[in-house]
Amino acid sequence: MKTVSVFGATGSIGQNTIDLIKNDLQSFDVVALTGGRNVAQLAKDAIDLRADIAVIDDVSCYGDLKDLLAGSGVEAACGSDAIVEAAKRPCDWVMSAIVGAAGLAPGWAALEQGKTLALANKESLVTAGPILLAQATQHNATILPVDSEHSAVFQALIGEDIATVERIIITASGGAFRDWPLADLPKASLAQASSHPNWDMGQRITIDSASMFNKAMELIETKEFFGVRPDQIETIIHPESLIHALVGFNDGALMAHVGPHDMRHAIGFALNWPERKKLPVERLDLAKIGSLTFKAPESARYPALKIARDVMDEGGLMGAAFTAAKEHALDGFIAGDIGFMDMAPVVAETLNTMTSRDGLKNVKMTLDTVNETDTLARIRAGEAIKTLR
Ligand code: NAD
Ligand code: MG
Repeated sequence: MKTVSVFGATGSIGQNTIDLIKNDLQSFDVVALTGGRNVAQLAKDAIDLRADIAVIDDVSCYGDLKDLLAGSGVEAACGSDAIVEAAKRPCDWVMSAIVGAAGLAPGWAALEQGKTLALANKESLVTAGPILLAQATQHNATILPVDSEHSAVFQALIGEDIATVERIIITASGGAFRDWPLADLPKASLAQASSHPNWDMGQRITIDSASMFNKAMELIETKEFFGVRPDQIETIIHPESLIHALVGFNDGALMAHVGPHDMRHAIGFALNWPERKKLPVERLDLAKIGSLTFKAPESARYPALKIARDVMDEGGLMGAAFTAAKEHALDGFIAGDIGFMDMAPVVAETLNTMTSRDGLKNVKMTLDTVNETDTLARIRAGEAIKTLR
């Protein structure tokens, strides 16, 4: 039996993880499940899976959670500190699927206990990659990528020497607006940006796919996780989203990972690692698919990609500033304060200010400075939004 916990259990990745656990109940024993606000879902899954504890982030939901769990034997808790405490409970495998910067602290705590951390929360690596990897090494813990592209690269690298890798190609669907006339992009609505052509995901990551801020994060994630140089990382638009990533070796070979667009593959790979087990995902019929297509991303359509290059070149706390600025700009777009194409200028302006005025480059990365950078970047992004309006 593998003991497992799922952080962000009520979200898209969390629910897919729970689906896989429910499919193979004899292999897994659930310790902790956490959610943001959806008490009904959290309580149901915690009872179904006989979890030891269920934690809800929103303290105003605590009463409801307690009522729903009464008599079930599942302990109830609330608040962000309780989420971090739950990450310290003994268990073998932890899914980090809280969205945003809030995912860093519980993942950090899990690594401190020497656990295997399945990392869906991409913000963790982007904001704090170097210290997160050091934390894993120091405590003999393992980080497994869950983002489909990084899981694909990880799988293509099994048995290979990273020194023989020339390049890593991360594919991108191109998001909701890949075929829109450029001139229409500033008018893109929230509803239009929230619908993905291929993947069924949470709203924030879906909008980030349309703007390619998601791909920008993934480029940085690739640099941090695999330790390659920025110039070795490429991205290409692949509208079918069936090839998740390719690894190019020094003999010219390209190893592609091909699979259906179903996150249960990458989640299941991490859940069963180092074994490979049968998974309930579609088997591709290549003859039916017929052809796969590719095209280079246009820089005018996807300004986030250039910002990612700058962040990778600068390194250090730029990743934390980038993530927070991006989240704040995304909040602004969701609230209707700024337009779709205003997000990238807000992020770029925030990074400029933080480099030139706040001297970000000279600050050493620690968990505290990552959090301070996050707070300051949200303030600077707020200022940038005001200037824009
Ligand atoms: P989601 O919005 O569907 O779910 C997020 C989960 O985090 C929910 O359980 C929510 O209640 C919880 N949550 C939100 N804010 C919280 C807070 N402040 N404190 C505690 N819990 C909080 O998101 P998702 O699509 O499942 O994505 C989760 C993470 O995985 C993100 O970092 C995303 O970028 C990454 N990811 C997602 C996919 C995908 O297919 N959905 C693919 C690759 C990577
Ligand atoms: Mg991805």
